[in-house]
Amino acid sequence: MPDPDAAAPAEPAEPTDPTVRRTLSALDRVTAALPGGETRDGQREMAAAVAAAVKERRHLVVQAGTGTGKSLAYLVPAIVAGRRTVVATATKALQDQLAGKDLPFLKEHLDLDVSWAMLKGRSNYVCRQRLREIAKGGEEQLALDGLAERASSAELAELAAWAEDSPTGDRAELPREPSPSAWAAVSVSARECPGASRFPSGGTCFAEAARTAAAEASLVVVNQHLYGLHVASGGVLLPEHDVVVIDEAHAFEDVVSATAGLDIAATRFSTLARAIGAILDDQPTTDGLEAVAARWDRALTPEVGRRLKGGLGEELGTLVALAVERTDRALAGLRAIDPGTNAEAGARKQRAMQLAGSLLDELHLLSAPGPTNVLWIEGPDSRPSLRLAPLDVASLLAEGAWPNVTAVLTSATIPPGLDHAVGLPTERLVDLDVGSPFDYEQQALLYCAASLPDPRQPGFDEAVHDELEALIDAAGGRTLALFTSFRAMDAAAEALRGRVDHPIMTQRERPKPALLAAFSADPATCLFATMGFWQGVDVPGPSLSLVTIDRLPFPRPDEPLLQARRELAREAAFRTVDLPRAVTLMAQGVGRLIRSTEDRGVVAVLDPRLATSKSYRWDIVRALPPMRRTRDRAEAEQFLEALRS
Ligand code: SF4
Repeated sequence: MPDPDAAAPAEPAEPTDPTVRRTLSALDRVTAALPGGETRDGQREMAAAVAAAVKERRHLVVQAGTGTGKSLAYLVPAIVAGRRTVVATATKALQDQLAGKDLPFLKEHLDLDVSWAMLKGRSNYVCRQRLREIAKGGEEQLALDGLAERASSAELAELAAWAEDSPTGDRAELPREPSPSAWAAVSVSARECPGASRFPSGGTCFAEAARTAAAEASLVVVNQHLYGLHVASGGVLLPEHDVVVIDEAHAFEDVVSATAGLDIAATRFSTLARAIGAILDDQPTTDGLEAVAARWDRALTPEVGRRLKGGLGEELGTLVALAVERTDRALAGLRAIDPGTNAEAGARKQRAMQLAGSLLDELHLLSAPGPTNVLWIEGPDSRPSLRLAPLDVASLLAEGAWPNVTAVLTSATIPPGLDHAVGLPTERLVDLDVGSPFDYEQQALLYCAASLPDPRQPGFDEAVHDELEALIDAAGGRTLALFTSFRAMDAAAEALRGRVDHPIMTQRERPKPALLAAFSADPATCLFATMGFWQGVDVPGPSLSLVTIDRLPFPRPDEPLLQARRELAREAAFRTVDLPRAVTLMAQGVGRLIRSTEDRGVVAVLDPRLATSKSYRWDIVRALPPMRRTRDRAEAEQFLEALRS
């Protein structure tokens, strides 16, 4: 019974700042129009903080738990402020949600000017110049390009017909997914395209049209990869903007590291050889490049996974020097071509020169990687590549990204130390955690199997299988079992089929969307999966009542880039390199369970170190939603059984 004399809970104070007030009233109008129409305190708090940060030109890092509605909490202030904004997301699903759902909804319900554009990397758009060349050259041209045996002419004709009517040329709008070879035939990468001004088809280029639309829009949606390329290229890829919102910011450091680095596989040389062969009868040059491609594979395959600590070494150094010499010679041969009045030949020459020039620049960088980069050989064995990545991206972003914009970094899980890792200046930074609207204490139970052996001890796998059997039975299926390796996933699926009465699907069986559709449709089903499913799985309702995690997801000790970062961090390596990654992934994995206010369920962590580690268990537990906790399996089973009644 409430105490009638108790003071009423304090209403949140109305903000005094007029910009923040305008933002909140716009947000309230928008959320009132949503089905359910509820106001969420965390969303309002975040929107107010974004509005204040944009106005005062301060950076903001905001953790917004699942269910906050964070996209409206940054879109509304950006639109109200009227500042040009770029939103960079890590997943295509979120890009689609923003451009296809949230922004049209805001346009309908805000009486403000809302204009937006989606911009992607060049290879996402069909290339009119390639279509034109294929149309003119037919089978013969495809043969010269080395594509005749791989792309069917019927599919190419279908793509050409689609491009005639498509307003965007965006691959995502194709009625069905094209084969990789057909798409390779009708598109070009940024490395190959020298820009519209040099082409007969330039004026009608889809990629350029998307850039023009982006330059005119007040809000541009991109992926983090493109934003990383924009920063690494000195800021030439995107229109000037005042605000950047990095959504799913937990992934940003790794994405920028990948985009700011290099990745050279043998196909770079064979692609260049084909591009030259299509316009120049110079067998020694094309044979020379193909020979480098073959040697590249032979030299790298036995070394996959090795970090090249002291530089390339003698054998690879000789190979890279040979590659430089042959690419240089190819470039000189291309320069000497006079295409005369043949516009198509001129376009091909430009593209081949662009390919050769960018390859040459990258090879020079590989030859002298310097102390601030990490060099290693990456797999798979069938397509090894030489990789180079900056040891840290903080200085790149501190100099190239943040000085001229207001940055808002947000995610359901902000890794510890993210601001430092991405070089945000502390003197202009605000940190905020707006929590989550879900009542985790009531909705969820965190069970840690404290009595299991340490994962590095014999008998761990068998003990995990026994735990899974008991928990899946108690849940009646309805389980997303997350594993840290394919080996563990396969072993568990094999052991449990026949031991539980519920169908078990694994990640190997179908593409992710099909698996999730089947999993959502049948509550009796269990889904066993690895890293690709620790994020981006959104299954509200009774089909998902149990999430299990086999081990704490620390990164592999032999991953070359992280190895180098550990060496740099010395005694702080575990806390600054390994623990933040494990904490973030754990929070992401656990976050699969509660997706709505109606959801209830158990997270079972089968790695006893979550209960026993003195040095880091609380770092992980504190990063998880505030669920009730237990070490008693019977309590977890009762919780799950109660959900079925
Ligand atoms: S600029 Fe030319 S080559 Fe580049 S994508 Fe456009 S049409 Fe193709």
